[in-house]
Amino acid sequence: MSFHDRIGAPALDFLKRQHGLLIDGKSVAGSGKRTEIIDPGNGDVIATAAGGTAADVHLAVAAARRAFEGDWAKVKPIQRARMMFRYADLVEANGDELAQLECINTGKPLAFCRNVDIPNVAEMLRYMAGWATKIAGQSPNLSLPGDWVAYTLREPVGVVGQILPWNFPLNLFSWKVAPALASGCTIVLKPAEQTPLTALRMAELALEAGIPAGVLNVVTGYGDPVGAAISQHPDIDKISFTGSTATGKRIVQAATGNLKRVTLELGGKSPVIVFPDADLDAAALGVSRAIFFHAGQVCAAGSRLFAHEKIHDELVEKVATIARGMKVGYGFDEGMDLGPVISQQQLDRVTGYIAAGINEGATVHVGGSRIGEQGYYVQPTILTGTKPGMSVVDEEIFGPVLSTQTFRDEDVDAIAARANATQYGLSASVWTNDLRIAHKMARRIKSGAVGVNVHSAGDPTLPYGGYKQSGWGRERGFEAIEAYTEVKAITLNLN
Ligand code: NAD
Repeated sequence: MSFHDRIGAPALDFLKRQHGLLIDGKSVAGSGKRTEIIDPGNGDVIATAAGGTAADVHLAVAAARRAFEGDWAKVKPIQRARMMFRYADLVEANGDELAQLECINTGKPLAFCRNVDIPNVAEMLRYMAGWATKIAGQSPNLSLPGDWVAYTLREPVGVVGQILPWNFPLNLFSWKVAPALASGCTIVLKPAEQTPLTALRMAELALEAGIPAGVLNVVTGYGDPVGAAISQHPDIDKISFTGSTATGKRIVQAATGNLKRVTLELGGKSPVIVFPDADLDAAALGVSRAIFFHAGQVCAAGSRLFAHEKIHDELVEKVATIARGMKVGYGFDEGMDLGPVISQQQLDRVTGYIAAGINEGATVHVGGSRIGEQGYYVQPTILTGTKPGMSVVDEEIFGPVLSTQTFRDEDVDAIAARANATQYGLSASVWTNDLRIAHKMARRIKSGAVGVNVHSAGDPTLPYGGYKQSGWGRERGFEAIEAYTEVKAITLNLN
């Protein structure tokens, strides 16, 4: 379990560097304690990262403010777009290095990082670059007496704080940074303490693409102090956070000081609902991808299966067959389907939930255990006989653990009510060939996304975010541009 024979020189050199924070285009030593970065595939220390503090955040905010009011404000939309197109090209040109760093830091299989994450990041930058020249106000017709001219301006919100989780460091970096750049904002970004590597490399590539120093600053370190300082900072105008619902609530409280704008992309407990008329092979594949992809460390993971009682057992066995055939192992090894979970803490959390499910009366249909002693691998797991009130049904596990329930009738209101019986509302999927059921369910489910015969389609144009405690606001699509801009109404009295 070693990456040394498969990693390229650029990624290896990057790992060996003494990384600092990236503030105002320069690498600066953080004023806190350095943190060790772990390869979750074997538990080895692969690098260290600077530990930022509130004082470092303050320096980064000052740099971002200077850039916002200085060089960056003078850059025309078409120039911003060109820089972002160059940035996307650089992501592709450095794709091997970025993918290898992502693989070693998250454990996600290398082929996925190389063939899915890299193109997705480049396309997100290009998609948002396209918006840079199309952000515009309107010219409303007023009904006030007399002659008036009125128009609206859509202006960048200002200096934005962005806090990332560890599950998709590279991809989520692009979801946050691309619309902020396209809108003309400047950024202070904190990657998760476990996964800072690709954010640091991406920030260097931004400079290489011609994005001025100070526009994108990266402060690595822990949630407290770095994330807390970003959330509280009086000179940050907006915060965009992805992570747990508990931390999201802390951020909302911290943001009240200056009432900064807040968007939150939080947890989920997404339902996957399979009707008896569905193509069961396609549904089984969809169900397995919905829960096992990236070892279940996906906010939209389809972790609650509702299957009609007529097909439940057959469907579960089909999903179990897929699970038994999955290759779970080191991300750098050829042909892996799943890697490890991110850390010992996450491993304990996931295995703790499985144990709690068994104690509460669930049956392990497949999986249920840790794999090996080294690295943080968990078997793809299906728990049957589960019901609301069990922690495995009610709480986000963030691991490869599916809980199943049956439904008897096909009353869409009753089924939707069961699917909606959660504090979350991020994503859902419905598997059926009946158009009436598909559309009725899509309207009744309370979540930011509903897939029909697909769970979670990823495209830069599709807004992404949650109902209820899955968050505030949307990322991707034009909604992301709206989240990084303010609207100003200008009125001219011609009377
Ligand atoms: P977390 O929410 O604590 O961490 C996410 C980010 O927030 C990290 O960068 C972290 O440093 C930062 N942070 C932590 N405390 C902060 C604070 N007080 N102020 C500002 N920022 C702060 O998540 P975690 O502890 O890494 O994971 C715990 C659980 O959260 C997971 O098991 C999973 O259920 C959930 N999670 C969800 C997502 C998602 O995409 N929705 C991502 C990661 C984790």
